[in-house]
Amino acid sequence: MTVRDILNESTKALEAADIPSARLDAEVLLSFCLGCDRLEFYKNPVMTISETQLTAFRNIIARRLQWEPVAYITGRKEFWSFTLEVNSSVLIPRPDTEIIIEEALDVYRNFTSLPVRILDIGTGSGAIAIALAKEIPGAKVVATDISIAALNLAQKNAATLGLKEKIDFRQGNLFEPVDGFFNIIVSNPPYIAANDYEELPASVKAFEPREALFAGESGLEFYEKLIYQADGYLQKNGWLLLEIGAKQEAGIRGIIEGSGFYDRIEMRKDYAGLPRVIKARSKVSG
Ligand code: SAH
Repeated sequence: MTVRDILNESTKALEAADIPSARLDAEVLLSFCLGCDRLEFYKNPVMTISETQLTAFRNIIARRLQWEPVAYITGRKEFWSFTLEVNSSVLIPRPDTEIIIEEALDVYRNFTSLPVRILDIGTGSGAIAIALAKEIPGAKVVATDISIAALNLAQKNAATLGLKEKIDFRQGNLFEPVDGFFNIIVSNPPYIAANDYEELPASVKAFEPREALFAGESGLEFYEKLIYQADGYLQKNGWLLLEIGAKQEAGIRGIIEGSGFYDRIEMRKDYAGLPRVIKARSKVSG
């Protein structure tokens, strides 16, 4: 069989199972299997592959047909300007999360004193902590997670990208493993409410870690804790940045205003026009 035949066959199978982006997935998975660039399939569509490679590829397509995310199959995901290793103990970093990086960089530009101290709560694969450590010269970053498996992977990613020295990884519940004061605290915490959790697509619900997604009855559980507890860890005029779900803006604004700890609140939309990040500036001196 040629790669063209193989791609046509697997695309059809994926389409029949209602998998979105069937053709792209087939190409990404075949290039992963063969260790070549997707471009090769266009340059040389009549290229043939060995029986062993074909069997391996069919096994991979069988996994995708069960809705396993492509990133868990290939073990990697592009984020910001780099590639992260991922596995089933971490949330697959989403392109939308790049918004919180943009906003943190915007806040950082207004700080005059160095080094800037940054805290990332619930770092998962390390996506946010690593991007900020990479972009901000002289940043001192602390990254936490309750999951030791996630932290191990985040640490490995930081090492691969040459940023091990700039990030201090700590395991524990929210602020528990952290001390001192920070200029910027970022978090993309679990924010799916109980009812919405049941409605998640199979690719998410059956494969991504529940503790990365699920946030109690209201979905606001983590925000409330972060907003109140950050007060003890933010310097005066330091910023708390939270990634939020599209329907959560009003609820989170309410919690921030109710806390009385912050004197500025701003919201940033994502590129689909949906509320994505809330920033709040601490008025309490640390
Ligand atoms: N920051 C990453 C991962 C977000 S998923 C990204 O944006 O891609 C949320 C993460 O919070 C998960 O890794 C989960 O293990 C972690 N988490 C859940 N409960 C926590 C808690 N109580 N304290 C610290 N981290 C927690």
